[in-house]
Amino acid sequence: MHQDFMPPGIVALTGAGISKESGIDTFRDKDGLWTRVTLEEVATIEAWHNDKKKVLDFYNDTRKSFRAAHIVPNAAHKALARLEQKYGGEVTVVTQNIDPLHEQAGSKRVIHMHGRDGESRCMNCGTVTVSDIDLTPQSVCPHCKAVGQLRPNIVWFGEMPMHVDEIDDVLERCGLFLAIGTSGEVYPAAGYVLQVRRSRPRVHTVELNLEPSVNRTLFHEHIYGPATLTVPAFVDRVLAYGWK
Ligand code: NAD
Repeated sequence: MHQDFMPPGIVALTGAGISKESGIDTFRDKDGLWTRVTLEEVATIEAWHNDKKKVLDFYNDTRKSFRAAHIVPNAAHKALARLEQKYGGEVTVVTQNIDPLHEQAGSKRVIHMHGRDGESRCMNCGTVTVSDIDLTPQSVCPHCKAVGQLRPNIVWFGEMPMHVDEIDDVLERCGLFLAIGTSGEVYPAAGYVLQVRRSRPRVHTVELNLEPSVNRTLFHEHIYGPATLTVPAFVDRVLAYGWK
């Protein structure tokens, strides 16, 4: 009997570099966020316990900056959405970014492994709330009414990423793995290329970045340049000819 052919899945791991040309700064580039703020003072659980106002103000400002009128999806985000619409198999974006630009570009299958902007989580009851208002040390959880226990629903350094089982599943099904605009310095994301090569011997892996990333030797193919140029061109190639 004839069996429907399902092409292998595609996973695109994205990092801060894909949103750079939309006007959102990366972390580690020479004009990046970490040159202006100290990681330990805003992106760890210790920082939140030490100075809640400082941490919450930082994320309140981040949320507002993402909503500025000029922050819109760029050609790279749109190309990944086009790939999902036109490719016959499963296309999943696994993003380290907390911004909403993949969804705004039209991608439907997006996994935010480091959380997403515009959500709060209660440290007392665990409830996640979609929230567009500033958090303060006096904020009250809408569910358990605890005071001062709401934090951004974002993975800080030293914390476990979200959706790890779901990510393992899509990696297990993929025939093409892309790492776009990510420095290869933050784990476990930086380890996915090795994970997928070990479990899928025939997988093709491609690094698309402005410059060689830390784990560049682990990829089969390397494409360097701004994401708004490299990603649309690569997507055109895959849709026309596949990746081999
Ligand atoms: P990173 O700052 O460590 O690295 C960014 C990478 O993107 C660099 O290798 C750089 O060469 C590359 N890059 C810069 N401009 C580019 C461009 N125009 N085109 C292609 N590549 C470009 O970022 P990362 O690896 O994603 O670090 C992980 C952490 O950064 C994550 O935890 C993520 O949550 C966080 N982050 C997210 C945002 C966001 O949501 N937009 C912004 C800053 C940081």
